[in-house]
Formats: sequence, C-alpha cells, structure tokens
Amino acid sequence: MYLQDFKYYSPDSVMEVCQLLSKFGDSAKAYCGGTDILPKMKNGLLEPEVLISLKNIADLKKIEYVEGKGVVIGGACTHNDLVFSKLLEKRYSAVSKAAETMAANQIRHMGTVAGNIASAVPSADIPPILITLNASLTLVGTQGERTLPLEEVFIGPGKTVLANDEIITEIIIPDQKYTGSGYYKFALRKSGALAVVGVAATINVEEDMIKDVKIALGAVSPTPVRAKEAEKFLIGKKISNELLEEAGSIASGECKPISDFRASAEYRTDLVRIYTKRVLEQITKKENS
Ligand SMILES: Cc1cc2nc3c(=O)[nH]c(=O)nc-3n(C[C@H](O)[C@H](O)[C@H](O)COP(=O)(O)OP(=O)(O)OC[C@H]3O[C@@H](n4cnc5c(N)ncnc54)[C@H](O)[C@@H]3O)c2cc1C
Repeated sequence: MYLQDFKYYSPDSVMEVCQLLSKFGDSAKAYCGGTDILPKMKNGLLEPEVLISLKNIADLKKIEYVEGKGVVIGGACTHNDLVFSKLLEKRYSAVSKAAETMAANQIRHMGTVAGNIASAVPSADIPPILITLNASLTLVGTQGERTLPLEEVFIGPGKTVLANDEIITEIIIPDQKYTGSGYYKFALRKSGALAVVGVAATINVEEDMIKDVKIALGAVSPTPVRAKEAEKFLIGKKISNELLEEAGSIASGECKPISDFRASAEYRTDLVRIYTKRVLEQITKKENS
C-alpha cells in the first residue's frame, strides 16, 4: 500500500492555505493529522494531487478563553490537546473526556478535532458533545470568514457545508449555564474502537427541575442528530428514574441507524435507549452539580 505521488505545501498562514485550495480545486486537500486522509490514500480511496498542511500555522494550535466569545479551540488542535487542556478541564471537562474515548494515544496525538468534524464520519466522537454545548465553527475561505453552528455543518456521511477553499480555523464553545455534561460511547472494544452508538447530553438543573437539556446522538444517523423530542419531554420536569427512562425510550425513536458488521439497526436503537438514560443519570447526579 504505497502512496501515490502528490505535491506537498506547508504554508504558515490560513489565507495561503485557502488560496492554494482555491487554485488547485478538487485535486487538492487540506490535511492536518492525516489519520483519516492518509489511510484513504493508502487504500486508493482518495487520490489528491496536492496536500496542503495546516501544521505550520501557530495560530491554529491554541486553546484559549476569549472574552465575549467563549472557549476557542484552534483548527489544528489534536485530541490530546483537548485531553490535557487545563482550561477545558475547568470549564468543559466532558469535552476532554469525550476526546479520551477516541482511538489510541498515537491517533489522539496526531488527529485533530477539526479533522474529525471535516471528515463527517457518522460515528465521530467529538461532534455530539460539542453540539450539546452549542459549539460553532469559524470557517475561513478566499471569500472571507463566516461562523456556523456546528449542528448545521453536517449534511451526510462524509459531507459538510464547507466550501472547497474553506478551512475550520476555530471551534467555539460559548459561555453557558449548565450543571452537567457528558458523553457515553458503546464500542466493541474498550479502547481504540469506533462508536457503535454515542450519546452526549448537557443539562441545566435547578432544584431537581430540568431547566434546559440538549441530547445529541452519534453513529445512528447519517449525521449526528439531536434527540429533540426527548429534550422537549424533559424540560420543566423534576428528575426521577421513570422520567429518565422515558426520555431514553423517546430518544431511541429519534434515530435512523443502519445495520452493519458492528451492530444491527435494532440493537443500535436499543443502545440509544439505554445510553441516553445512562448519560442523563450520570450528569444529573448530585455530585456533578
Ligand atoms: C486507528 C484509528 C482509530 C480511530 N478511532 C477513532 C475513534 O475512536 N473515534 C473517532 O471519532 N475517530 C477515530 N478515528 C478517525 C480520526 O482519527 C479522526 O477523525 C481525526 O480526528 C481526524 O483528524 P486529522 O487531523 O487526522 O484529519 P486528516 O486526516 O488530516 O483530514 C481529514 C479530513 O479533514 C479535512 N481537514 C482536516 N483539518 C481541517 C480543517 N482545519 N478544516 C477543514 N478541513 C480539515 C481534510 O481535508 C480531510 O478531508 C480513527 C482513525 C484511525 C486511523
């Protein structure tokens, strides 16, 4: 499995990346960790003539708090950057923990959050938790900059709304009031395996009353999907075992899984029921408040 020949560019500014992407069009690809793109190239599934690396752009490597914006994760931050970020641990530890469920240490060290998003694999681990935290993306292209809610970025397996010459420069988690947040993943091995089902939820509970909740499901639809009926059912109610159980059942009716070698659609649907209840139980425990 050899790589075909390709030209390699490693510019040190975002605009240069966008200009190169625009110049070479469909024959070019941005790349960062290479953990998605290189296996595809080795297997002949992708044959870009030009690879444009983002690794040289220092600005894309920061995780910082920006007043009025929130926590900003740069477009070249790796999963391990998330796992070891003190800022995330303090403000959004569920994001670090979700990153920790990803792959093996070597892949977490190379693979990036932006690459995980841009690849738009339905089983990707990071989008669901970020969606429940109202994350948005800054996209930069030759035509300028725009901000989009993460939830609106996915349009199908492997497909996003990103234009050819656009890259993700920032993932922004805005300030918000919440009392619990978490991601539960079911996979066929304890580590290094893709999600068969992933359920993320972020909740705001006051005196046992659910003020707000967002639930996002991964690996059970062509894109990550919100369980909006389950959310609606929960808001304004007092937490009880029966309530969370019912929310799990409602969420399981909101996914459209496929059957594949990892699991049948029926099994995945049932896992959504169980894992939605589990993640809600976990994030509403008193010690998490
Ligand atoms: C053995 C193995 C195990 C894995 N396990 C998991 C797992 O458990 N969970 C999981 O979710 N994923 C898993 N993955 C997938 C992969 O590691 C992630 O999706 C990773 O985050 C991709 O990031 P990257 O920087 O390596 O992307 P690359 O391979 O560099 O690029 C992937 C795609 O994203 C685009 N891209 C990259 N950066 C940007 C950017 N800033 N803006 C716009 N487009 C960009 C590229 O053009 C390309 O199309 C695994 C991969 C391997 C090889």
